[in-house]
Amino acid sequence: MQKKLIFALLATLPMLAHAAQKLPVVASFSILGDVVQQIGGDRVEVRTLVGPDQDAHVFQPRPQDVKTLAAARLFVVNGLGFEGWMPRMSKATGYKGTTLVASEGIKPLKSEEEEKDHDHAGHDHGNFDPHVWNNPQNVRVWTRNIAASLSKLDPEGRDYYAQRAAAYDKQLADLDRWAAQTFGQLPVAKRKVITGHDAFGYLARRYQITFHAPQGLSTESEASAKQVAGLIRQIKASGIKAVFVENISDRRLVDQIARESGASVDGKLYSDALSRDAAARSYTSLFRHNVEQLSAGMKKN
Ligand SMILES: [Zn+2]
Repeated sequence: MQKKLIFALLATLPMLAHAAQKLPVVASFSILGDVVQQIGGDRVEVRTLVGPDQDAHVFQPRPQDVKTLAAARLFVVNGLGFEGWMPRMSKATGYKGTTLVASEGIKPLKSEEEEKDHDHAGHDHGNFDPHVWNNPQNVRVWTRNIAASLSKLDPEGRDYYAQRAAAYDKQLADLDRWAAQTFGQLPVAKRKVITGHDAFGYLARRYQITFHAPQGLSTESEASAKQVAGLIRQIKASGIKAVFVENISDRRLVDQIARESGASVDGKLYSDALSRDAAARSYTSLFRHNVEQLSAGMKKN
């Protein structure tokens, strides 16, 4: 009996040794975690704090997350205020490893809320829109930053990371070209969408689409009755039919808006997180899904 147990333990040893050699990396949220994994491949062990279908805006680190981060050598975050909980968490952990702000080098979009919402004075939403990943060109910047960081911490893997980053970069460039062609088939006047919160500013800018959302850049802010009523009036006046809920947030508000404006909900967009189901298990499948859904929805406008 004991012999059997020892044998079983020995059999798992090579695996453990191999796992121990991998570079322990923590990514703040699922989309970023996938991109780190694409580039790090077999040389990294990626753990993600905010998982699929979860909302990073309102995330509250649990004790196990603090432990996970404490064991990492690299912590990859998006930055631009997306992970508002991050400074507190790093402090609580006493994290001494490297922190990479993956969005560094991306030209950020200014938050429109700052000018729009004077009644929210004192409540800091941050100055920039953090949702950079909704334009694949920005994910190419993430990719470069991540490859550079991994190479620095694991110099033996430099060529490996460079190769994987180059292959992934090509996929991203193709994705962007395909999205531009797909949206290009619709006249700009039809490119209007209603969704839950302002997560698609970079996609909007890249492909000339106008998004309207009852909630602002963060799901933390509540939509006021006045904002909701204004949006309903706008939908009625402009005849927008493309209405989408998001995988990370409560859909009731969007449902209500659709009902009261006489539109119907077209489907689900994956805004700030991958999905547990097959639709958006990776960033590239997430982006493809969103483009297909948006383009089908906007055709009806
Ligand atoms: Zn968001």
